[in-house]
Amino acid sequence: MTDSVQPVASHFVNGAYLEDTAGASIPVIHPATGAVIATVHAATPAVIEAALAGAAAAQADWAARTGAERGRVLRRAADIIRARNRDLSRLETLDTGKPLQETLVADASSGADALEYFGGMAGTLTGQHIPLGQNWAYTIREPLGVCVGIGAWNYPTQIACWKAAPALACGNAMVFKPSEVTPLCALKIAEILTEAGAPPGLFNVVQGAGEVGARLVADPRVAKVSLTGSVPTGRKVYAMAAEGMKHVTMELGGKSPLLVFDDADLDDAVGGAILGNFYSTGQVCSNGTRVFVQKGIRDAFLARLVERLKGVRMGDPLDEATNFGPMASAAQRDIVARYIAAGIAEGARLVAGGGVPDRPGFWVEPTVFADVTDAMSIAREEIFGPVMCVLDFEDEDEAVARANATDYGLSAGVFTRDIARAHRVIARLQAGTCFVNSYNDAPVEMPFGGVKMSGVGRENAAAAIEHYSQLKSVFVRMGRVEAPY
Ligand code: NAD
Repeated sequence: MTDSVQPVASHFVNGAYLEDTAGASIPVIHPATGAVIATVHAATPAVIEAALAGAAAAQADWAARTGAERGRVLRRAADIIRARNRDLSRLETLDTGKPLQETLVADASSGADALEYFGGMAGTLTGQHIPLGQNWAYTIREPLGVCVGIGAWNYPTQIACWKAAPALACGNAMVFKPSEVTPLCALKIAEILTEAGAPPGLFNVVQGAGEVGARLVADPRVAKVSLTGSVPTGRKVYAMAAEGMKHVTMELGGKSPLLVFDDADLDDAVGGAILGNFYSTGQVCSNGTRVFVQKGIRDAFLARLVERLKGVRMGDPLDEATNFGPMASAAQRDIVARYIAAGIAEGARLVAGGGVPDRPGFWVEPTVFADVTDAMSIAREEIFGPVMCVLDFEDEDEAVARANATDYGLSAGVFTRDIARAHRVIARLQAGTCFVNSYNDAPVEMPFGGVKMSGVGRENAAAAIEHYSQLKSVFVRMGRVEAPY
């Protein structure tokens, strides 16, 4: 079916591939077929030790380089990624099942954007001079030390780069643990960073499930943990990090609202809802899965949506005509199928999809429920699959109140032609990342992250620098010291 994607070894530590077959076997499954395409081994304590010791050793020398030198390595890595975009995209497609049509433009390229952006910024990271009359103070922006990155399975290349780029720009080293569901892509990023001139040990990749992640988080040499994952995992990792008073970034789940007002451009609103529910087969944390549609436009919205879903091309994700792939794993397919059954049982009206095709791989049809109420489980819980819930509303106050009635707060969107309403509504929505007449754009220049249970901290933009560095304050007395005795 495909060329071999078996990596040279399971881990990338101290600038080279490293194997330890004593670790539990992890089969890598291509979600479109269910075929095992590679096998890696979970990191043993010896591998974890080598990675942490290597990172600690590399970090001091790396931090001592000038910012411009560090930035050059990151920008070189970005160039290599762009030159190899097709190969990296293909690997991402095999690892995740996402269509090549998507991965060619959304994954390695987004990772390259982050490396380029933070590479450019590395030379500008400074402290501040603070005049104090005769005296003065200054701040030094210092790296945190060894950072741990832990990834989810939906965007393995992007997540590795979004964490590595600001961490390394600030002078930190990183040990990254990809999701056990998609272990292949981060290894390529480690290879490329090394080729670009990153010293051995600066960016290490170790494989394994939660147990390996927990060992990394608990290690006293680790100063910071950045997790992309679910809220239950976030709770555990945050608590563990608190034991060691470590810095954290938590990029967690969501159940984000998308508000469509009567005056919205119908096709744009339908397009936004499609992007915010079915891109990457719905496996996107920031998806606008609660689509609140004002009553006057509701029927037209549903009719247009159903019409446009005829454009779905489900099939081999390596075929560039395919625009809808499988779920990343059998377990996730089963979770989504259970939610679809729950939606039907709870009385929601199925207006599109709902099927779980009987074919090899982990497929679910793009599914739309209408007449969804706030109390239904499909409207309250993160499904992380291609299931759109359409809810009706009468007026703005009601829509805002219902949109905010969730523990999550990752994203929110509004479609309206009324410019004042757009900004008024966004100001009232409890979410970290918002969209006006659009959905799910994530340029590296814009901070990304959640409020409430959806997370802590921000990725991307200058905001990320605050989460990978700390300030040392230095008071300088220019005159004599006047002590009382
Ligand atoms: P998950 O929480 O099951 O796993 C995430 C990662 O944490 C994996 O690498 C896993 O091995 C690791 N892990 C699990 N238990 C751990 C522990 N006790 N200690 C340390 N590490 C542990 O999430 P998932 O199923 O891989 O991904 C889906 C979830 O991720 C969804 O909730 C989704 O919304 C969220 N997500 C969030 C963002 C974001 O940026 N906010 C992006 C993508 C995905």
